[in-house]
Amino acid sequence: MFKNRIAVLATMHRKEDAIAPILESDLGLKIQVPTDFDTDRFGTFTREIARSGDQLEAARKKALAALEIVGGDLAIASEGSFAPHPSFPMLPCDREIVLLIDTLNDLEIIGESISTETNFNHRTVSNYDQAYQFAMKVGFPDHKLVVIKQHEIVKGIGDFDQLKEAVSSGKVRVETDMRAMNNPTRMKVIAQATRDLVEKLRSCCPNCSTPGFTVADVRRGLPCGWCGSPTNLILASIDRCSKCGFEQEQVSDQKADPMYCPYCNP
Ligand SMILES: [Zn+2]
Ligand SMILES: [Zn+2]
Repeated sequence: MFKNRIAVLATMHRKEDAIAPILESDLGLKIQVPTDFDTDRFGTFTREIARSGDQLEAARKKALAALEIVGGDLAIASEGSFAPHPSFPMLPCDREIVLLIDTLNDLEIIGESISTETNFNHRTVSNYDQAYQFAMKVGFPDHKLVVIKQHEIVKGIGDFDQLKEAVSSGKVRVETDMRAMNNPTRMKVIAQATRDLVEKLRSCCPNCSTPGFTVADVRRGLPCGWCGSPTNLILASIDRCSKCGFEQEQVSDQKADPMYCPYCNP
């Protein structure tokens, strides 16, 4: 379905470095990156432009805009978001999605990776020493920095002289530069999300053979290992085809630890 087709990748931050090798070798796609494609108009991490809509909508807009500019029927876009981990709010995490839109086959498939491996961080500093300490903690200079002053934002700071200069004016806010080309850790998570996309594309609907037959829902009620009462843990995952609606339930044969049981361990 994808072999030798041209897919336009909507990026201006060198995300093709993470995405293209995987899609080209695993799916046989040919990745094309449009020149002068301004993804910043869809929102920036440094907040000059607020992101329009949620993460998926933002990726969708980028992919469709790239198709409009370049033409064709296959587009890839990715979008990251940095927020506290859903289960461990003390841990910052990076959620990356890589979206494929195939207008020829009317398909939209989302690869995803959530990783606590991120240097996403910021600090207000008053001098170079403090800035230096922060920089060492977040993997500078391999990972670049952004300095936010009252009337100016300096992005892509990648060496010590630049950093010294940028923080010389007194109290400023130093942030990790989260743009993909300035953040190798983020690039790795984008690659993971791309591999997830490939896996989903390889999983086809048993009814109509459309790619992207993946978990769409879950059913809770995994039985307690002691008394068999249903717990709040996941009992079954439900794969669903977005094309024909065919569903398949995978029921777990595990038992829940009694610590999750409302009777054994209330
Ligand atoms: Zn189907
Ligand atoms: Zn129980």
